[in-house]
Amino acid sequence: MMIKAITFDLDDTLWEVWPVVERAERLLHDWLAARYPRIPERFTPLELRELAGEVRAARPEIAHDRTALRKEALNLAATRTGYREFDVESAFAVFFVARNAVEPFAEVRPTLERLARRYTLGSLSNGNADLRLIGLDDMFHLSLNAIDVGAAKPEPPMFEEVCRLLRLRPHQIAHVGDDPEHDVEGGRNAGFRTVWVNRAGRSWPGGPRADAEIGDLRELEAVLAAWETGFA
Ligand SMILES: [Mg+2]
Repeated sequence: MMIKAITFDLDDTLWEVWPVVERAERLLHDWLAARYPRIPERFTPLELRELAGEVRAARPEIAHDRTALRKEALNLAATRTGYREFDVESAFAVFFVARNAVEPFAEVRPTLERLARRYTLGSLSNGNADLRLIGLDDMFHLSLNAIDVGAAKPEPPMFEEVCRLLRLRPHQIAHVGDDPEHDVEGGRNAGFRTVWVNRAGRSWPGGPRADAEIGDLRELEAVLAAWETGFA
């Protein structure tokens, strides 16, 4: 069994995302206060996020697209507070730039650099992270997200698309991620080898476990070496 490629989830696998998202939401809120004050008077940052959840429930056709959900939520907030003209693109840009101000965990770049000498590396994300803004785009042979593919993990399309683009069979790819459902269940159902990144020492929530569990990416090299020599 030879692994040829490794695909990585991004948010909470290569960097911690929620403090960054919360900061981005606060910066957007401040931006709105200066331009469309009735919106932040009516909605807290958290309520704006929850509005995106309402949009998701009402419009399943864009449920996989976090950018569209955020924009539609902002449009809805503007409508509900009586703004007939609203620059949603500029508002979203404030959020988007701040949302990409993530700091990869210390071991990420050196580990990816070593792995890239031996494996084809890809990223599979349900979010709207921009690897160019983050400065890791040079590490990946290809990057897919739910917006481009039209479906989010754990659904099969993103996993199928990476097989098609790399001309590999699912069992030749290991998928690495923090989310038990999106990454482990999704990857497993697609026929990938799976690695659960469990940085916080959580207990497994139930269901079939990943093929391997690691506390950070440095442990991935030992897992792959064991698989290659057949000792896993
Ligand atoms: Mg994740």
